[in-house]
Amino acid sequence: MQTDHRGVAFELEQADKRRLWHPFTPQQDWEAEPQLIIDRAEGCYLIDIEGKRYLDGVASLWVNVHGHCHPALNQAITAQLAKVAHSTFLGLTHPPGIQLAQRLIAIAPPNLSRVFYSDTGAAAVEIAIKMAYQYWQQSYPPRRSKTKFFSLQNDYHGDTVGAMSVGGIDRFFQTYRSLFFPTFKTDYDLAAIEQLIASHADELAAVIMEPLVQGAAGMIVYPPGFTRAVRDIAKRHNVLFIVDEVATGFGRTGKMFACEHEGIEPDLMALGKGLSGGYVPLAATLATEEIYRAFLGPVDQFRTFYHGHTYTGNPVGCAAALGSLDLFERDQTLECLQPKIALLRQKLEHFRQLPLVGDIRQCGFMVGIELMQDRETNTPFPVADEIGVRVIKEARRQGVIVRPLGDVIIVMPPLCISEDELTLLLDTVYTSIGAVGEALL
Ligand SMILES: *Cc1c(COP(=O)(O)O)cnc(C)c1O
Repeated sequence: MQTDHRGVAFELEQADKRRLWHPFTPQQDWEAEPQLIIDRAEGCYLIDIEGKRYLDGVASLWVNVHGHCHPALNQAITAQLAKVAHSTFLGLTHPPGIQLAQRLIAIAPPNLSRVFYSDTGAAAVEIAIKMAYQYWQQSYPPRRSKTKFFSLQNDYHGDTVGAMSVGGIDRFFQTYRSLFFPTFKTDYDLAAIEQLIASHADELAAVIMEPLVQGAAGMIVYPPGFTRAVRDIAKRHNVLFIVDEVATGFGRTGKMFACEHEGIEPDLMALGKGLSGGYVPLAATLATEEIYRAFLGPVDQFRTFYHGHTYTGNPVGCAAALGSLDLFERDQTLECLQPKIALLRQKLEHFRQLPLVGDIRQCGFMVGIELMQDRETNTPFPVADEIGVRVIKEARRQGVIVRPLGDVIIVMPPLCISEDELTLLLDTVYTSIGAVGEALL
C-alpha cells in the first residue's frame, strides 16, 4: 500500500478518472491529462493535495468574496451547525432564513420586497420565470396570452431546461434546442429590441437579462445606459423585467448589485453565486409586492406558487450568507474594492501589447481577455487549437488558476484579493499569454 502523499494523490486521481463525470468537461481530455486535486484553501490560495499553492484567479467559479477558509464565515457556519443543519422551509421557518430575507431586502433595489430561496442560480432563474408566467395568469384582469419570454443573444442563465430556453449560448445549448420553450431573441440593437417587444407585448410575460455584462458569453460589457434602456422598453410595453444578478451580485461590478449603476428597479431578481460568500449552495429570487400579491387567495383558487426544493432556505446556507453580509460591512469590502478595480484597469492596459490579445473587457471585478489569431481582421483561432486552454495550463504551471471561456481568459478573483496578489495574478496571466504566443511563432 502506498502511504506517501504522491501515492495517495495518484490513487485519488485514478479513482476520479474511473468514477467521476465533471461539469462542462470534455471527459476524454480529462482522463488523458494530469489533474489537480484541491485539498484545502486559505485566503485567495487553493492548496493541492501535495501542498502546492495556487492563486485562485476565478474565485472558485465566480463565487468567492471574502477569501477561503475565512474564520468569521467558518464560525457562522459551525455556529448554525451546532443548532440545526437542515429543517424544511415547507410549512416551517427558522431565524437565519428570516434574518437573511430582511437583510437582502434592505440592500436590494427599493421596489423588491419578497425573498424566495433555492440552491443554484439556475433554480433562481427558473423560479423567476415561473413567477412571471403565473403572475399574468392570475393578475386582475388575467392576461392569459402573456406566456413567452424575451432575452438577448449570448445570454446565460444556467443549465436547466427553462434556464437554457431563455439562454443564448449556442455552443452549450444547441443539442437541446427541441426541448426549449419558444423565446424571442435579438442582438444588442435597442431599436430592434423595442420593435420586437412592442410587436409581441401581448404574448410577452417578461424580459430576462444579465445586467451590465454578459458573463458566460465571455464578459461582453454593454455600453452605459443599455440595461436601463431595455428595462424602460419592457416597462413601456407592460412586460415584466427579470434581472439575473447571479454573476454580478454581491459586489462583482463594484456596487452591491449591478442594477445600482443605472438605478434599475427590476420586477424579479435572481441571486446566487456570491450570496453565501461562495461557501455553500444558496440562491434566491426577489420579487415585488405586486407580483407576490397575485399569488394570494383561498386555497381552492389554486393561486399558490407550487414550487420548492428539498433544501430550499437551508439554514447553514442562510447563516453563511448572513456572515458574508456582516463582512461586507465590517471589512468595507466595496470601498476597498474601488482602488483594486482601478489597478486592474491599469494593469490590463499593458495587455494590448501582446499580439494574441484581440480585445479586453472589464466590468468592475469581471474581466475577459479575448485571444485572436488576427486582431486586425477579427479572426479567431481554430477551436481545435484550444488556445485558451493552453494559456490557463501555462498559468497553472506558474501557480495561478484561471479558466477560459472558449478563447476568452476570465479573470475574476475573490473581492478580498490584495493589491500584491492582484498584481501577481495579472502578471502571470500576461506572461502565460506571452509564452503561448511565442510558442506559436
Ligand atoms: C452562473 C450563472 C447562472 C447559473 O448559476 P448556477 O448556480 O451555476 O446554476 C445563472 N445566471 C448567470 C448570469 C450566471 O453567471
